[in-house]
Amino acid sequence: MRIILLLLSVLTASAQDIYIHAGKIYDTNSGKLSSEKTIIISDNIIKSIENGYKEASEDDIKIYDLKSKVVLPGLIDFHVHMESQSGGQDRYVRRFQDNKADVAFRSSVIAKKTLMSGFTSVRDVGGSGVNISLRNAINNGVITGPRIFTSGKTIATTGGHGDRTNGFRDDLVDDPGPEQGVVNSIADARKAVRFRYKNGADLIKITATGGVMSLAKNGQNPQFTEEVIREIVKTADDYGMHVAAHAHGDEGMFRAVNAGVTTIEHGSIMADRTMRLMKEKQTYLVPTISAGEHVVKMAKIPGYYPEIIIPKALEVGVQNKATTKKAYKMGVPIAFGTDAGVFPHGDNAGEFVYMKEIGIPAKYSLNSATITNAKLLNMENLLGQLKEGFYADIIAVDESPLENIATLENVIFVMKDGKVYKN
Ligand SMILES: [Zn+2]
Repeated sequence: MRIILLLLSVLTASAQDIYIHAGKIYDTNSGKLSSEKTIIISDNIIKSIENGYKEASEDDIKIYDLKSKVVLPGLIDFHVHMESQSGGQDRYVRRFQDNKADVAFRSSVIAKKTLMSGFTSVRDVGGSGVNISLRNAINNGVITGPRIFTSGKTIATTGGHGDRTNGFRDDLVDDPGPEQGVVNSIADARKAVRFRYKNGADLIKITATGGVMSLAKNGQNPQFTEEVIREIVKTADDYGMHVAAHAHGDEGMFRAVNAGVTTIEHGSIMADRTMRLMKEKQTYLVPTISAGEHVVKMAKIPGYYPEIIIPKALEVGVQNKATTKKAYKMGVPIAFGTDAGVFPHGDNAGEFVYMKEIGIPAKYSLNSATITNAKLLNMENLLGQLKEGFYADIIAVDESPLENIATLENVIFVMKDGKVYKN
């Protein structure tokens, strides 16, 4: 009998519990701080949050002392590119040199950097497909990184932002189709979405207008018909995926919103009609002010970008901040996202500072980087809050972000899935 009981206790014993003594906890729901709490973590889940600093009654409980810190749920960035860190001209040369393994090695370094900066979840909105393997490697514990929700390869139209042979010399240009993410008809659209599902994507990303960084003349023109976007949204919905639409110019983003996409990425040159429609349909703007500010700065350095990029960067990039300010005032809902990869990975939290500068309160921006993004991922019962039953994705900073939002640029403690990565 004793042997059976012993065996049972060994079988049912959980992993070591963790107590976090939190000086202050920030509640992303109410926007309020509370003092002197103990967060009890069992495996990868928050078991409970108790008043005061609870002492360990058993030897096998590990305690982290964050009594002088402000503790928050891990942050979620809704627009990153985990496969690349774009420089200037070299970005275009690397496309001819890098094998997928080169991309994979680089992305594993980027993944770690992102997690260490306090972003415990990200939405990757476009790469070569290595981003899907990267997600899997992180989920399987092979490498260190945030939770990744990825679109795999983006979906574009011929010659559009995301057609991989844009700007190549004639004999290198081919005619990629739905499998490579280029569509021109309703049938193509359906097929491309189904290919992404087959590849293992979590969501769909389309490029509804031209882009700044592609080797093509126009950074704003609409590149999809509304009926094709509508088919993409409908098919994605069948497969349990939402659609993110890159858009700089107004006509393309207006069509995308009308067709039912979930988020508009960048939204740079957005007219009032689109803001009104987004508010009405509760379509989220993912501002990426960080990217806009960065490309404008770099475009002023002679020779940094190819010539064709410069006027687009100066015209489009410069608008992100002002548009976000206006959209926020008009009541367009905002989901926190940065476009890390266009600017250095790890600097994601700089977006909070930009949001503050245009009058978005810290409470709103913190909510957008946690509860809002969790909800859009259908993970609102697991991510974005410090609450019983939620994933133990927890960060800490030195000061209250309500008083100094820039404190989020120096995250000093990172736990993801109940495991401490930075302390
Ligand atoms: Zn992007």
